Amino acid sequence: MSGIYIHVPFCRKKCSYCDFHFSTTFEGYRTAMVERMLGELKHRIASWTHSIETLYFGGGSPGLLTPTELEAFFRIMYPYLPKTEKHEITLEANPEDLTEQNLLAWKDIGINRLSVGVQSLQDHLLQWMNRNHTAKDALLGLERLSRHNFSLSIDLIFGVPNQGVEDLEPLLALVQQQAINHISAYGLTKEPKTLLDHWLKKGTYKFLEDEEQVAHYQYVRNRLMAFGFEQYEVSNYARHQAYSIHNSNYWKRKPYMGIGPGAHSFDGNQKRRWNISNNAQYLKQINWFEIETLDGIDEWNEHWLTGLRTQRGILHQTITALGGLSAKEKKTITELIETKRLRLSSTGYHLTDEAFMEADRISSLLFRIH
Ligand code: SF4
Repeated sequence: MSGIYIHVPFCRKKCSYCDFHFSTTFEGYRTAMVERMLGELKHRIASWTHSIETLYFGGGSPGLLTPTELEAFFRIMYPYLPKTEKHEITLEANPEDLTEQNLLAWKDIGINRLSVGVQSLQDHLLQWMNRNHTAKDALLGLERLSRHNFSLSIDLIFGVPNQGVEDLEPLLALVQQQAINHISAYGLTKEPKTLLDHWLKKGTYKFLEDEEQVAHYQYVRNRLMAFGFEQYEVSNYARHQAYSIHNSNYWKRKPYMGIGPGAHSFDGNQKRRWNISNNAQYLKQINWFEIETLDGIDEWNEHWLTGLRTQRGILHQTITALGGLSAKEKKTITELIETKRLRLSSTGYHLTDEAFMEADRISSLLFRIH
């Protein structure tokens, strides 16, 4: 099974914390970009040998694509989808994209899952994030959406300067009231070259202390657990098994094809490819992608990094297939178990609930070095 990811490199505004690849001045070359991405998809999908299970429109802001533009991608992909299965077809949308017209068109095209960037229901925080929507826009959009039959995920950001745990409550309460079954909850991170980075350097804002970040994380986690959610990945919670199949496949290291500038691909084995994060260069097709061949050490490190971020953990069978644990690694694991950061089960090793937030740091203790 595999997935296709389409990266739409346009946004209306630049959110203060975001370092994804996108441009806000795209109208001059919008059509050319869509054509070029369709060309890439057409060319690459013809030689893609894996069965396709999921499609995902991300970005950037794929909600900016017109229904006609979206349909053009589907016309290329449909002949390659196995007819016997139900596919998870996700579109990332912002609250302001949730118009009646768009919702009807998306449904018609075949999109069955929406991931909506709500982030907060506090206007002062949305303004700080430089989001293009208000809390009212989000509520109206979600209300409209509730009359259509989409599987729904929403995003929430915690750990924002000037955000208290009480500011997290309105969005969490909405999740419960509207029976939303998937939520991605991200702690704010400092990314270079963002407005946030500039503010922090100038001293305009101060990043939350670690303990405050942890308090936010625990508040979100505890509330969601009380609502019956499972934390199936460090930042992702689902109830009634409404897991994101597409993202779960990334963590299981299944193959995926990424289309568009900045998109990554993986053959499910040893080859990773990434397209250049530069719209002009991608359009001109000059040095526009690179391919890396992973060796056994890269593979080992990736398994620990992605595995420990999930509830599934890293499987014993994976460790055995990669040659087993060295004496030093066994010692590290024993220490992590003794200090209650790692847990052993019949299937593999998993982080304990308390250690989930430190997933990346703990997996790095088991990395191998070239
Ligand atoms: S967070 Fe989303 S909408 Fe905001 S700039 Fe980044 S990609 Fe665009």
